[in-house]
Amino acid sequence: MTENTDVVVIGGGYAGVMAANRLTQREDVTVTLINPRPTFVARLRLHQLVGGSHDAVVDYGEVLAEGIRLVVDTVTRIDAAERSVTLAKGGMVGYDYLVYAVGSGSADRCVPGAAEFAYPIATLEAAQQLRSVVDAAPATAAMTVVGAGPTGIETVAELAELGRRVTLVCGGVLGPYLHPRARRVASKRLATLGVTVLDGPDAKVTAVTRDAVQLGDGRTLPSRVTIWTAGFGVPDLAARSGLSTDAVGRLLTDETLTAVDDVRIIAAGDSAAPSDLPFRMSAYAAGCLGAHAADTVLDRIAGKRPAPIKLSFPAMCISLGRRAGIYQLAHLDDTAMRLFLGGRPGAKLKELSCTYSVKHLANEARKPGSHTWLKNDKRQQLLRAKRGQALATPERSA
Ligand SMILES: Cc1cc2nc3c(=O)[nH]c(=O)nc-3n(C[C@H](O)[C@H](O)[C@H](O)COP(=O)(O)OP(=O)(O)OC[C@H]3O[C@@H](n4cnc5c(N)ncnc54)[C@H](O)[C@@H]3O)c2cc1C
Repeated sequence: MTENTDVVVIGGGYAGVMAANRLTQREDVTVTLINPRPTFVARLRLHQLVGGSHDAVVDYGEVLAEGIRLVVDTVTRIDAAERSVTLAKGGMVGYDYLVYAVGSGSADRCVPGAAEFAYPIATLEAAQQLRSVVDAAPATAAMTVVGAGPTGIETVAELAELGRRVTLVCGGVLGPYLHPRARRVASKRLATLGVTVLDGPDAKVTAVTRDAVQLGDGRTLPSRVTIWTAGFGVPDLAARSGLSTDAVGRLLTDETLTAVDDVRIIAAGDSAAPSDLPFRMSAYAAGCLGAHAADTVLDRIAGKRPAPIKLSFPAMCISLGRRAGIYQLAHLDDTAMRLFLGGRPGAKLKELSCTYSVKHLANEARKPGSHTWLKNDKRQQLLRAKRGQALATPERSA
């Protein structure tokens, strides 16, 4: 009889659920998933929660394989030497392997007044609070969205479709990832929805008060509700537990997603930094990394050498309200192509990607080991270029 292996997965998001499901391929593996909430959060739809067109939660029964033990709690510390995690409600859970998939949240709002007066949107609780604030604000209240990455654009469009008076303060360029052609389409759509877009180097928020935002060029804009979408941060659990992280706090791993400090800890999703060259934070990458993390664990249990991660992005999609969107195709090095789909086709593809990000999890629950994705060797080139740069830097500065 073979010995049982206990695998604990911390974080029940796209990466953690995918990893947990895939691990059920082996009957001699016991999988425990630890997550603070009893429901799965479809983070891709949090801006819809704010706009009222979706509740952004899915029952774990729909996405989690049978036999996985769900513990509703928060891990406060990982003890790598003892191979155990400490729970906020008390007690510890031991493991043979640990999958670290704690995801991401809002970045620290360092601008004066932002922590007190600006609302984040990156977690379920934050989005729920923001929705109540938006609902309670008078119909004509001025609202400001800070940050023009995908989350900022999607949030401002959702609010504009509700008839809200909204300004988007880009802090630079609108949709930095987008190809200029796609950016023009996004800009036009936002104008049609009535959004005031402030871009360029001076369009930076330097202070937030209860009813206004101040910009770098000295302007003050009235703002009854200010929403902060600029940047993402990650939980500090790895750093707090004495594990090596990148500058942001993601767990540092090798290309098999194994922590550089400990072969028993494998990372996936937004909170993983393979070779200090993390993938774009996304549900797509999280699902693929979650599957690969599980493969690495299963390989180690089987005494096989785990493979390096191979992953490329086909696209990035951004909704522009419920009736338009941008489906921006990507090169193998994850930069934007000239090619994109806008308007209703863009919206349909965005909706499909939201639906499939959850469907992939449900499929893996039913058929563990079935999730596949686009793979190529481009990452090896990027890593070589990064190493070359690191070697070249001292010479250049000498
Ligand atoms: C409004 C919005 C829109 C987005 N739209 C898109 C999009 O269109 N396309 C796209 O690809 N990406 C999008 N993203 C980004 C995407 O949601 C993330 O990249 C994705 O959720 C990452 O998955 P993950 O599993 O790594 O982390 P998460 O989905 O964040 O899951 C992590 C889980 O770990 C839990 N956790 C954290 N700390 C602990 C702890 N100490 N103990 C136990 N559990 C813990 C969290 O509560 C959470 O449930 C969007 C994000 C936001 C906020």
